[in-house]
Amino acid sequence: MENNIRQIRQVLIYTMVLNLTVSGFKIVYGMMTHSVSIYSDGFHSVFDGLSNVVGLVGLRFAYNPPDSEHPYGHKKVEILLTVMISLMMFFACFEIFKNVYTSLTGKTPELKISVESFIVMISTLAINLFVCTYEKRMGQKLNSDFLIADSAHTKSDIYVTSGVLVGLALSKLGLPHIDPVVGAVVGVMVAWAGVSILKSTISVLIDANQIDTELLREISCKTEGVAGCHKIRTRGARGCVFVDLHIFVDPSLTVARGHEIAHIVVNAIKREMDGVADVVVHVEPAKKT
Ligand SMILES: [Zn+2]
Ligand SMILES: [Zn+2]
Repeated sequence: MENNIRQIRQVLIYTMVLNLTVSGFKIVYGMMTHSVSIYSDGFHSVFDGLSNVVGLVGLRFAYNPPDSEHPYGHKKVEILLTVMISLMMFFACFEIFKNVYTSLTGKTPELKISVESFIVMISTLAINLFVCTYEKRMGQKLNSDFLIADSAHTKSDIYVTSGVLVGLALSKLGLPHIDPVVGAVVGVMVAWAGVSILKSTISVLIDANQIDTELLREISCKTEGVAGCHKIRTRGARGCVFVDLHIFVDPSLTVARGHEIAHIVVNAIKREMDGVADVVVHVEPAKKT
């Protein structure tokens, strides 16, 4: 397992370096040629690189056990980073639309699209394709869902860049307004990606239930000695859920026996549910009937 993590980290580092290089290149090149679509495509790719950064941080902290200062673990570091990234995406969007506006109102110098632009874009496309295939293959080899999901993310970049290429070809054929229009479409996609990653953090930030409490009720109630349960709560992030609940036990049991039953419930929940980090059980006497 340890070894696997080291390898996953390595794949992520390579992917991140390639993604960030490609995106930086596209942003600078887009500015040089006054092409809004290449520029926006660059921003779209930046976030592949940044999501690799989140992945690396997650990997770093996921295996850091809780400590005295962070008794609930370090999962929320990842959430915080994700929120920061989505804010950066909205900022990038603002930049993109500012450029779309100046380009559409004719305030941008003339587009400088040449054969060179096509070579640049096709090369970045080739790198994207390589990154995506490499990451997916390594994900399968190392059995990492994270890498496979991340590679699908990079794949969306390939479609965007292809669209930009078509736009550039049309611009070259005498439709210069296509460029800012394609830029605007990419801008909307950046915004949409920002909203969807922000949405994924909200349920964690507002402590929404993370596991179906009915399932937890079933697991607890089938434990021997448990007469019933209530006040089942769950919170946290996927893969790191905290559960607490109250169980009813026979009032004549000793404290030692009640405690033992509580631990059986804790173990059953941890065994049967995926991604439960901790369970706290409150024991109370069942009402006599
Ligand atoms: Zn209670
Ligand atoms: Zn105990």
